[in-house]
Amino acid sequence: MPQIKKKPIKDNPIKDSHGTPDPIPAAIRKQLIKIVTEKRYLDKKEELACYAYDAFLVEAMPQAVIFPETAEDISEILKIASRHKIPVTGRGAGTSICGAPIPIHNGIVICFSKMDKIIEVNTRDRYIIVQPGVINAAVQKALAPFGFFYPPDPGSMSTSTIGGNIAQNAGGPRCLKYGVTMDYVLGMEAVLATGEIVTFGSKNVKDVTGYKLSSLFCGSEGTLGLVTRAILKVVPQPETARTLMVTFKNLDDTAKAVSDIIGSGILPTAMELMDKFTLNAIEDSFGLGLDRKAEGSLLIEIDGVKEACEREMVKIIKKLKENNAVHIQESANDADRERLWTARRSAYGVFAKMAPDIISEDVTVPVSQVPEMIRRIKQIAKNQGLRVGVLAHAGDGNMHPMIPADKSNKDEWARVEKAFDEIFAAAAALGGTLSGEHGIGLAKARYLPLVMNQDSIHLMTRIKQAIDPDNILNPGKFV
Ligand SMILES: Cc1cc2nc3c(=O)[nH]c(=O)nc-3n(C[C@H](O)[C@H](O)[C@H](O)COP(=O)(O)OP(=O)(O)OC[C@H]3O[C@@H](n4cnc5c(N)ncnc54)[C@H](O)[C@@H]3O)c2cc1C
Repeated sequence: MPQIKKKPIKDNPIKDSHGTPDPIPAAIRKQLIKIVTEKRYLDKKEELACYAYDAFLVEAMPQAVIFPETAEDISEILKIASRHKIPVTGRGAGTSICGAPIPIHNGIVICFSKMDKIIEVNTRDRYIIVQPGVINAAVQKALAPFGFFYPPDPGSMSTSTIGGNIAQNAGGPRCLKYGVTMDYVLGMEAVLATGEIVTFGSKNVKDVTGYKLSSLFCGSEGTLGLVTRAILKVVPQPETARTLMVTFKNLDDTAKAVSDIIGSGILPTAMELMDKFTLNAIEDSFGLGLDRKAEGSLLIEIDGVKEACEREMVKIIKKLKENNAVHIQESANDADRERLWTARRSAYGVFAKMAPDIISEDVTVPVSQVPEMIRRIKQIAKNQGLRVGVLAHAGDGNMHPMIPADKSNKDEWARVEKAFDEIFAAAAALGGTLSGEHGIGLAKARYLPLVMNQDSIHLMTRIKQAIDPDNILNPGKFV
């Protein structure tokens, strides 16, 4: 392990850039339009404004938005951009919560919505080949008739794209058992800043030919290249799934039940923790009949063959009772189960209704530290006089503290920033990390020294320089 030399957190350098940047010079604009035609090139102010934001809090206008249809189009665009040192930022559905697709240095946004074809479904060889603009849920829909599925299931799966999922190495509730996006990317085609079209990996589940560059691109936030095709591993649907909704009188018991279940050798598909604030917010919106007095709750799912699930269920219920669970209720049928999951996936939207702004982070700690991290998050928010809801993919220690607030209220906002400085520092102190799935983007770059030493950060910078020497691709992000 490298020695982490702690450095003080720098002032937040990220500012909105609301002004409209200068248009792309006419001669360059003409060359770009020649590649994609006029209808796939936007540069009116009101059009550009639609691509200036994501689900984070910073906005910056691009100078042009282009909708290519092929890797060759993108290659030509990048050659021109490189020649003229124009920044290029990829964009899927813009659901990032960390500012990753914000063109903070303006330039061109390449939007992948026209590259949304499923190229091949091959369950015999267990893969699916897709273009980057395909929505995650469309992949699931294409696989379902074959009895297969693609495990990564971000809460945004009905809108976010495979390109965005790869660039953020997205996770989701069932990644506890099945792993994250990187574990399912067998190969890809990508375009580098130079315009070179490269391919990594293959259709083979086992492939150790050279560096695993597709993994390097996972989580790279579009800073190394633009993904134009992905070969994804798919898996057979389990025979059965069973879902429990469990409530507790206090959060300590809730969190301890999680680490006890994991520690006993059972690996559920998902273990989603919600505190009282979150539970009540969801109940206000969905009226599911959840226990409003419960201080903590768990949504637990297991899947597999029927007999194994039966045995695991007995062990899980024993552990829940040992940790003073108050109500343990199993979903009666698929519709009931789906209702609970829809409510859980809507938590972010439910919080977004509470205040003009919402900050949802995803610090991650070792599972054994989940109870302590929750205590610290609550105390930090209380000290700053802020409301906080804690929602967590608790089985893998991935926590989403969510603070509804008003960015235009300077005093409140200063307290929000202070609270998150302390939350990130607390996670680092407990052996945790900055992000389990949302990525670094603009939101967390300044916290990197809390969890990486300078030599490690420098290595990332050198990799970026080797692949994109002019810093054309998504500049201003974590490298
Ligand atoms: C309600 C809600 C729930 C969410 N739940 C989860 C969750 O459970 N788990 C999770 O991990 N995340 C979650 N997120 C965050 C977000 O949805 C994911 O990060 C998602 O992967 C982003 O995909 P996107 O298509 O919206 O990409 P965008 O937000 O458009 O872009 C994200 C990054 O990908 C880059 N990019 C996009 N396409 C390409 C490409 N083809 N090649 C190279 N780079 C590219 C962009 O430049 C940017 O850096 C949630 C967001 C919301 C709003």
